[in-house]
Amino acid sequence: PIAYVNGTFLPLSEARVSILDRGFQFADGVYEVIPVYGGRPFRLDAHLGRLERSLREIGMAPPMDREALGEQVRELIARNEGRDCQAYIQVTRGEAPRNHPFPDAVHPTVVMTCTPVTPVPEEWIREGVSVITAEDIRWARCDIKSIALLPNVMMRQKAAESGAFEALWVHQGQVMEGAASNIFAVFGGRAVTPPDGSRVLPGITRDVVLELAAEQDLPVASGEIDAADLPHAEEIWVTSSTKEVLPVTRLDGEPVGKGRPGPLFRTVLDAYRARIRELRAR
Ligand code: PMP
Repeated sequence: PIAYVNGTFLPLSEARVSILDRGFQFADGVYEVIPVYGGRPFRLDAHLGRLERSLREIGMAPPMDREALGEQVRELIARNEGRDCQAYIQVTRGEAPRNHPFPDAVHPTVVMTCTPVTPVPEEWIREGVSVITAEDIRWARCDIKSIALLPNVMMRQKAAESGAFEALWVHQGQVMEGAASNIFAVFGGRAVTPPDGSRVLPGITRDVVLELAAEQDLPVASGEIDAADLPHAEEIWVTSSTKEVLPVTRLDGEPVGKGRPGPLFRTVLDAYRARIRELRAR
C-alpha cells in the first residue's frame, strides 16, 4: 500500500511521523474517512468540507485548498489502484516541543492512507446487528471529528466483548449517536435522527439518507430520540461511511420491533445502494 505524508507518496511501511507530533502527544488533530467505490470517492466535497470545519473549530487553517487536497486524495486512490476502499486523511497541528498551547511556528502534519474494504456482509443486512447503549463519556464537542477516540475505542471494545456491533451514546436521557455511526429510530412509521448539536457528528451518510428520503417523500426527519423510548422503536438503523446503512435488530439484548430489519430500512437501503450504483457507473 502507498501512503501520503506531507506531500510525499511512499510505501506505507516507510511512512513515519515524529514522536513529537502533537497528534501523538495530545491527539491534537482531526480526520476524515471517505468511502471509495470502483475507484471513485463518494461525497468527497462534503468530507473535505467537514474536515475544513473541524480544523476551523480547533483553530487550524486548512493545510491546502479543497481542490488541491481533493486531487491528492484522488492521486492516493490511483496509486493504490483502489477500487472499493476507504481513504483516510488525518491532519494534526504538527511537530513541536511538548507544550500545551499552540506552538508559534508549526507546520501541520497531513497523512493519508487507502485501505481496501470488504463489502458489508449480506447477513448483517438480512438479520440485522446488535447494539448496546452506554452513558456518553465523551467530551462536549463531538461535532468535531477529533482523532481523540479513547471513549469510542473503549465502548466499541465493550460492545465487541458483549457480542454487539456498536454502542449508542446516551446523554441526559437522549440518544445521540453511535460510537462510530449516526442513528435513526422509527416511531409510528416515521424515522428520526438526532439533529446537529455538540454531541453529534454531522454524519455524511446520515445527510445522504435525509436527502434521499426528501427526494422520495419518505417519512424521515431530524428529531430527538428519548432513550426511554428507544426500546419501543419499530426500527433502528445506524449509518456510517464504511457501513452505509445497517439495521439494528437487538438493543441491549432485546429484539427491536419484530426482531427483523424493517420495511423503511429496506426502502432507504435500496435508495442508498442505487446512489452508489450511479457513482460506479459514472
Ligand atoms: N458519528 C461518529 C462518532 C463517527 O465516528 C462516525 C463515523 N465517522 C459517524 C457518526 C458517521 O459519519 P459518516 O457518515 O460521515 O461516516
